[in-house]
Amino acid sequence: MKNLNKNEISKILENALEEGRKVIPNGHVATYIPQLGTVDPNLLGITMITKDGEMFTAGDWDTRFTIQSVSKTISLAVALELCGREAVFSTVGMEPSGEAFNSLVELDLNSNKPYNPMINSGAIAVESLIIPKASFSDMLLFSKRFCNDPGITLDEVTYNSEMAHSARNRAIAYLLQSKDIIKTDVDDSMVLYTRMCSLSVTSKSLASLALLLAVGGVSPATGERLLSTETCSIVKTIMLTCGMYDGSGEFAVNVGIPTKSGVGGGLLSVVDKELGIGIYGPALDAKGNSIAGKVILKYLADELDLHLFS
Ligand code: GLN
Repeated sequence: MKNLNKNEISKILENALEEGRKVIPNGHVATYIPQLGTVDPNLLGITMITKDGEMFTAGDWDTRFTIQSVSKTISLAVALELCGREAVFSTVGMEPSGEAFNSLVELDLNSNKPYNPMINSGAIAVESLIIPKASFSDMLLFSKRFCNDPGITLDEVTYNSEMAHSARNRAIAYLLQSKDIIKTDVDDSMVLYTRMCSLSVTSKSLASLALLLAVGGVSPATGERLLSTETCSIVKTIMLTCGMYDGSGEFAVNVGIPTKSGVGGGLLSVVDKELGIGIYGPALDAKGNSIAGKVILKYLADELDLHLFS
């Protein structure tokens, strides 16, 4: 990262937000979960926290929104900690799928394993591994700790809205059961998956989670080790290769910051050993990634020299 003073960094964040705002009209909020369709597409916020605890914010940084697929990073991390690497990767792969996040074709036709834990099929399978070891309240507690945010709750309205429109995810879950990938109760996996997607966070919660991953698992807030360095390394690598669904390769080349997106508009971005970035921008591109968020990250990567291989 470039060596700049606080004022210069704050200015860059404000400029990044203005660049992002320009593309909001080209995006759309998700409507397949009806509650997400009621959100104002113009909301936009960012939090960036450095390893020294310096925090920079801009826009709607403290607005709460549902974490959606960003929770796949938390579930993967917990599964790695509780079940171990072997058990996780004998159930789910670690290859980009090149398909949409809610695809089941590749799972049906090509593989007896979901391609990776960052798409719905992979994440639902990961939840089935967690179920014998941790309840939703345990997962909520882990999420609060990882995100350094005691204010995280289950957004019941969004949860109910998604559960009432979950035919596709149920189809994925039953396909997983038919292939003997899910060995526990299918509904339990669906419920835990959807609850994890419905956690309400802010851009600051995501920046804190990103920083925890960036520094290798010791909470910068409390000094407590929450994740092993191996878990953090696996999660970050899979974020880089699979975190933006079928847009992951292009994003890695153009921006080079391991990032996980969610259809609620959240982005979790890790600048390894340096920074955690959280973004909220609910207008999405065609692949389901925050359209303004992507522009913001590209701007920051260029201005602050954050590309992994710059
Ligand atoms: N809960 C959403 C779903 O399963 C999460 C998808 C996403 O954020 N890409 O469809």
